[in-house]
Amino acid sequence: MSRTSQTVRPAPVDAVGTPADPVAATVPATPLLEVSGVTLQYKTTDHLVTATYRVDFQVFKSDRYVLLGPSGCGKSTLLKAIGGYLEPVEGAIRLNGHEVTKPGPDRMMVFQEFDQLLPWKSVRENVLFALTTSGRAKGAEAAERTDHYINKVGLAKFAHSFPHTLSGGMKQRVAIARGMAMEPDVLLMDEPYAALDALTRRRMQDELLRLWDDTKFTVLFVTHSIEEAIRVGTRILLLSPHPGQVKAELNSIPPEQLGTAAQAELEARINDMLFVH
Ligand code: ADP
Ligand code: MG
Repeated sequence: MSRTSQTVRPAPVDAVGTPADPVAATVPATPLLEVSGVTLQYKTTDHLVTATYRVDFQVFKSDRYVLLGPSGCGKSTLLKAIGGYLEPVEGAIRLNGHEVTKPGPDRMMVFQEFDQLLPWKSVRENVLFALTTSGRAKGAEAAERTDHYINKVGLAKFAHSFPHTLSGGMKQRVAIARGMAMEPDVLLMDEPYAALDALTRRRMQDELLRLWDDTKFTVLFVTHSIEEAIRVGTRILLLSPHPGQVKAELNSIPPEQLGTAAQAELEARINDMLFVH
């Protein structure tokens, strides 16, 4: 990557508005994940579907980065491509500077569906199995990591339960624990709470923020809900309807401003950008 194409992030600013660290202000930050001019298509027998068109964005370490757009705008397709399951017809996806060409344990996916666990394995075995088969960890270390993350998502009491005995929310917690236990560079979450009732959904969003406070993992989160995007994200990429193109990139608001006029204003602004032409 050439020097000129590197992004210089705004330096942290202290309360009086001066850069907190004059050195940091001049050091260009390297993105963890870089999506550059990515066009994604599906070839069916009789036609070509363009799911996204020349999408650009960059995710930095510890971002909670949200892709927001209406159904069918290519959010899942983008996530699949970042996961390494689909090759761009144009543009490139780079993780830590290396082009993504296939799936890998450095990118873990959490889906919307409740049936993403292995039904014949317990909660604990589901997490452990992912760690050992991928070679991410083995033996005592794998066991320790498994218990640590099951504990983190509040499922220690259910470690030996099987998926069919759990609620949808609990199954999502297992999928998240499994993803986090792999300690990927980026956790990819595709509308993970969309099938949950409103109260559970809110609880899961808060839990995700608590987990993030703990470990500052990097997450790329897909949603079609403006409210969820603001609640979960630090940065939000707005995508236009089919084919998905970048409309804007915005900063979200800090959690302490949720429920205030700042949230309502941002919601209205996003709504205008997404739906008023
Ligand atoms: P979103 O996740 O934003 O709802 P998707 O990424 O699922 O959108 O889909 C984007 C577009 O690609 C849609 O028009 C959808 O119909 C199409 N599409 C998705 N998957 C396939 C597929 N396997 N074959 C053909 N077209 C597809
Ligand atoms: Mg989708």
